Amino acid sequence: MNLILMGPPGAGKGTQAELIKASYPVPHISTGDMFRDAVQEGTELGLKAKSYMDKGQLVPDEVTIGIVEERLAQPDCKEGFLLDGFPRTTAQAEALDEVMSKQQRRIEAAINISVPEEVLIQRTTGRVSCTRCKSVYHVVFNPPQQSGICDKCGGELIQRSDDEEETARKRLQVYQQQTSPLLDYYEEHGILHNIDGNRDAMQVFADIQEVLASIGKSQ
Ligand code: ADP
Ligand code: AMP
Repeated sequence: MNLILMGPPGAGKGTQAELIKASYPVPHISTGDMFRDAVQEGTELGLKAKSYMDKGQLVPDEVTIGIVEERLAQPDCKEGFLLDGFPRTTAQAEALDEVMSKQQRRIEAAINISVPEEVLIQRTTGRVSCTRCKSVYHVVFNPPQQSGICDKCGGELIQRSDDEEETARKRLQVYQQQTSPLLDYYEEHGILHNIDGNRDAMQVFADIQEVLASIGKSQ
């Protein structure tokens, strides 16, 4: 199953990816997580990415496409993958199609989760994530049992610096300008599925399961 999860920052892509992964055995590839790991490790890639992430801008295509190509070449992606946060530009989408066609594979579905802008801001500004296992919570909508501590692994929960309101709003603008045109790209390819993300996470997941069943994927 070769899937793309699309939608603006805060739409619930990471949350849905965790639910999908629990029922369908595919690796979850989040370019945002890959960049945050690189920043934490202080690698050259991390140093480069950080300057863009801090400003709410996209990391340049040549850098991003390179790390995704490398990741998709790993053996665990042979049977499929779930991309979250990639592609975000037309150049990235075209590069992905090229990688796929070289391997005689194709993207089977692009699932677009939509949520109104003010809800997106509430979601991003209240998001906290585990420094250890990356689980995502929300201080109001999905709080951990104990404030600041991950229910799953006991790790520390922190707010991402790019989730502060000013940067979150900038990221929404960048999404509108650079990423939303991709919805037309996948619509034209006949693989776009739109889902109302402004509902309980389990209701959203139920719709995603329907889409997956419609393209012949069973749990
Ligand atoms: P994305 O990966 O698209 O940026 P996340 O999955 O990290 O989004 O979700 C953003 C925030 O919204 C998190 O704090 C998450 O707990 C919360 N969230 C996700 N889905 C829902 C939902 N359906 N209803 C309410 N809050 C949600
Ligand atoms: P995310 O975790 O998906 O919200 O991404 C966090 C940040 O990482 C973004 O604001 C970008 O700076 C960077 N990033 C993640 N994915 C991409 C991508 N596909 N292209 C460019 N930059 C990205």
